Amino acid sequence: MSHPLMDKMRQQMQGLEQQGLLRQRRLANTNDVIDFSHNDYLGLASSGAQANALYEGALRYGVGSKASPLVSGYSQAHIELEQSLCQYTGHEAAMLFCSGFSANSALMSALFNQDDVVIADKYVHASIITGVQSSKAKLARFIHNDLVSAQALIARYPHSAIVTESIFSMDGDIAPIDALSTLAKAQGSLLVVDDAHGFGVLPQGFISAAKVDIQIVTFGKALGCQGAAILASKTVIDFLVANSRHYIYSTALSPACAHLALNAVNLCQQADVSAKLMANISLFRAQAKAQDINLSEMAGSEAAESGMNSPEPVNRPERINSPEPVNSLEPDVINSPIQPIIIGDNERTMAIASNLADKGFMVGAIRSPTVPFGQARLRITLSALHSSEQIISLVNALKRALEDTP
Ligand SMILES: *Cc1c(COP(=O)(O)O)cnc(C)c1O
Repeated sequence: MSHPLMDKMRQQMQGLEQQGLLRQRRLANTNDVIDFSHNDYLGLASSGAQANALYEGALRYGVGSKASPLVSGYSQAHIELEQSLCQYTGHEAAMLFCSGFSANSALMSALFNQDDVVIADKYVHASIITGVQSSKAKLARFIHNDLVSAQALIARYPHSAIVTESIFSMDGDIAPIDALSTLAKAQGSLLVVDDAHGFGVLPQGFISAAKVDIQIVTFGKALGCQGAAILASKTVIDFLVANSRHYIYSTALSPACAHLALNAVNLCQQADVSAKLMANISLFRAQAKAQDINLSEMAGSEAAESGMNSPEPVNRPERINSPEPVNSLEPDVINSPIQPIIIGDNERTMAIASNLADKGFMVGAIRSPTVPFGQARLRITLSALHSSEQIISLVNALKRALEDTP
């Protein structure tokens, strides 16, 4: 078929392919492969208890919400999940979405307009950028996790909103939340934190209403299911309910999924699961160090190059209470299940990932433009379900793959 749009698509696809940047779906593995690429950090996505919770939720509330929240799709299942999230984080009110992408876009596009300035970390998620762009607000970005750079923008635009993540999705490092919170309060700014990768992994209270004005949590990462919530004051949530097009014109989250997420909020507070995840992260890092594999301490090399890093250490979460001092190997390391190995070149990154796949290990291969050009990387994620043997054999295979791939 010849049509200007079709021609444009073909041309763009050819260009992407030539640059080695063509994105395609691949069928998720079901057997044989050991998966270090997903975000199911606590292993809840495949848990029997969660399968039962989904069934129970479906029987009690139905599988579908049948309508948007303002019509008749808002049920007791949603209220109970919202209350549980508020109790856990200390926020006054909550509202639920079917995905984190939708929650972030909804928040940004409803909250801001062309008169506002949004100050954001350089590495915030695409859904935040999309939302800010559609709001027409001015977007000012600071160097990743760099307090000096953030402070300069906050001083320049007082009474604005500051947006960051908790654990960054591609770098696995953690934002200096306490310091940003202090800065925000001093300048009368709002602090908004996308806690997609932190919620369920970071200790309770690390991100909470005491420090953060608006918190976005998602259920597709550590909670192992689907959906998201915005948590904030009643004023903010009431405003969003009344004004967010994403919320008003979309079918409410399935009540069975809300019930499932509620159960996940309870399960993620179990200390033994968290302790196992933390032990696995420590084991991975210790093994990689022993093999001289370059781990990122602070993957935002842009900040490092600029020389603008704050002399103050970035805040790290306190250790999760557990029967054993699981993280005693390396007290200062990032306590994050996301462990990037920066390779640099797109094609070499793909080649190493494919070498690992041949050896039976699935890892994420992240290229630009998802990450800055020249910072393509393997994104290795740890889960509480990985065994020590699996982690040790991954690191051995990784060592060989790095050596064998020029
Ligand atoms: C995954 C992710 C989202 C989107 O959440 P979904 O529920 O997968 O749509 C938003 N922000 C960050 C930082 C994420 O990693």
